[in-house]
This record gives sequence, C-alpha cells and structure tokens, in this order.
Amino acid sequence: MKEHARRAIAECRRIATMSEEPGCITRRFLTPPMREVHDHLRRRMEAMGMTVRWDAAGNLRGIWQPENAHGKRLIVGSHIDTVPDAGAFDGVLGVTLALECVELARELGMPLPIEIIAFSEEEGVRFGVPFIGSRAVAGRFDPGLLVLRDAKGITLEAAIRNYALDPARIHEAAIGDDVAGMLEMHIEQGPVLESENLSVAAVDAIAGQTRYTVEFLGQANHAGTTPMHLRHDALTGAAEWIAAVEGLALRTEALAATVGSARVEPNAGNVIPGAALLSLDVRHVRDAVREQAVEALLKQADAIAAQRGLSVHCTRHMNQRAVPMDERLTAFLMEAMEAANLPPKRMTSGAGHDAMVMAARVPTAMLFLRSPGGISHHPAESVREEDVEAALEVGRKFLERLAAEVR
Ligand SMILES: [Zn+2]
Repeated sequence: MKEHARRAIAECRRIATMSEEPGCITRRFLTPPMREVHDHLRRRMEAMGMTVRWDAAGNLRGIWQPENAHGKRLIVGSHIDTVPDAGAFDGVLGVTLALECVELARELGMPLPIEIIAFSEEEGVRFGVPFIGSRAVAGRFDPGLLVLRDAKGITLEAAIRNYALDPARIHEAAIGDDVAGMLEMHIEQGPVLESENLSVAAVDAIAGQTRYTVEFLGQANHAGTTPMHLRHDALTGAAEWIAAVEGLALRTEALAATVGSARVEPNAGNVIPGAALLSLDVRHVRDAVREQAVEALLKQADAIAAQRGLSVHCTRHMNQRAVPMDERLTAFLMEAMEAANLPPKRMTSGAGHDAMVMAARVPTAMLFLRSPGGISHHPAESVREEDVEAALEVGRKFLERLAAEVR
C-alpha cells in the first residue's frame, strides 16, 4: 500500500505545479492550468484502461469497467479547483486517491465498475457560487447561473464555451439510476483528527449553515466632548454582542458561531463609532440547534441595542440545512476502518463538500484524512504518508464490501 500512497501524494505535488501563478497554487474553474490537469489525468486514466470524457460543466470523468463487471458503478472523486494561494491536497488528494482505488480494484480483480470524477468547481472562487461541477452531476444545475460574471466580466456561459464545451448540454452531465453511490475522500481541513491522533474518520453529516450581516447603528460624535453616559456607541454594542456569540457557542455542544468580519464607521480614532457592520456564521449538524441559536443571537442583538440606545438591522444571506451522509455506506466505512485495524471514528464536517451536493442524488459517504497542524487553504497544507496509506486501506475494504454487495 506504501507505493500507492506515495504515488497519490506525488501526483498531488505534480498537479500543484499546474497553476495560474508561478510559485503558488491557484487554479480556478476552467482556467488554462485546469486544462493541464485534465490532460495529465486523462493520460493516466487512459493508460489504466479507463474511458475518459469531459461533461459540459468541465468535470473530467473516467470510467473503469472491468471485464467481470456487474451491477451499478461507484463514483469516487473530489474537486481539482483551488482557492487562491492554496495547498496541494484540498480536493486533489481525493482524485489521486480515486486513481489508486481503481489501481487496487484492477489488481484485485474486483467486479466493481468505478467512475472517477474530478469535479471542476467546488470552491466558488471564480463566479462566487460553489459546487458548479457537482451540481451538474447531481442534476441540480440551475441554468440561471450561466449569466454570472467573473472578475474580468466573462460570463459562466462564455467560460464554458471558451473551454470548447457546450453550456446547452450541461443537463447531460447528470447521472442516471445506474450509480450505486459515491465516495469522497478529503483532508479534514481542521484540527480534530490530529488532536485525537487518528489517521482517518468517516463523516456522518455535513453541518448546516446560516449567515447574516448584523448592523448596529448609533450616533457618531466627538470622542472628547461627548460624556460616556450620553453616547450611543455602535461598536461597544457590537463588541458586547460578539462576546455573546462566542459565549453561546461555548455553552452549546458542537455549535460553531463566528463573527469573522467587522466594519466600523466612520472608523476614526477620535470619533465615537456611529455604525458597526458585522458578519455572523452559525453552523451545527442539527438544524434545530442551529436555528434556535440564530434566533437567540438575533434577540440578544435587539436587547443589547435597546439597552444602549442603538438600533440593529439583521439581513440573512444563507440558510443551508445539514446534510447527512448515507447510513449504509458510512457503516461500510466504519467496518472498513475496523478491518484495517484503525479506530472506527465518526465525525461531522463543518465545511461544505461536493459530497453534500451529491448526497441529494445518490447514497454518499465521505472519508476524512488528518490535516497536519489543522492547516488548509494555505500553502503549508500537508498530509502524512501513513494517513494516506490508512485511507487507501479503508478505501480498498470499502470497495470490496460494495463489490460483495452487488454480486
Ligand atoms: Zn475541498
């Protein structure tokens, strides 16, 4: 398994050189370096005896159809686009591991047909909308998105055409009823597995997410002449609320609540702040817990504002339900971990993934690999060879279990 793990890592390092900017990894949806990755992966898949095609959403798709194949195929994959100045493993490792899964299936003569999908767009960097690739495969692509424009004013429709693909055929990317399920392997992008000294975990659900902007409005005034008891300081109200956000999250099991952005007006050292514009991001794997937390925090903002003579305006931007992974396939992953002598660990994902979109269409399972230092979306992102080996052991046993099932 060591050789397979080493090759999966080496492939990530090689793909990392295919970038929009020399010296760092940036590979947005349908940019020239994505073509390079496509050509590289296509050559490898064809050499392995796979049939390769592109769909109109720019997903690269390779089918491994063994001679003894029977039953529906398993999709294994992840995304190959990146954030700006990214690491080498987010998404890409899930594709290079998928290649090794096919190598293993071939070596072991498994009768399981496998489709590898290198999803074209997950991060949402170029057009501000994530999961364009997996939406198309899941049959949930909204053609209204084609008018979106990137920073250069190029529409999504034009970007697809410029890549020699036909946007009118995106619906053909959708899978039919001949798919048994999907497995996505992905780095955790957080510190949990490292803190528990574990190589891998099955993801049992992807957290739901609510985002708001919360605006505290007071009265800007002179910092020297306005006595403390006559002020309506928007920023002190905002600060009190930020501490309340953290307090609620600390008191609520597994709740993540973040104020990640703050803008102060007029933002001058000698002026009492008249306005403070904050972001709020709340995530939990149980929708009811998330919804109650959001409601409590908005009420608290009202209460703080009333007490300080401020007004507050809250605008919702996102309200996304939690997505459970498939119970049966997740159980296969747990069995596979035990069979590989690894502690069977389940955890939730606080971040969105292609698996979340695919789960609406086919039974989907997800395996996390430890992220050393918990670091991701950063050039220092890395992976340990032993963890990649562990993921491949689990992947092999998962494939064997599935192959036995469809027999
Ligand atoms: Zn990712």
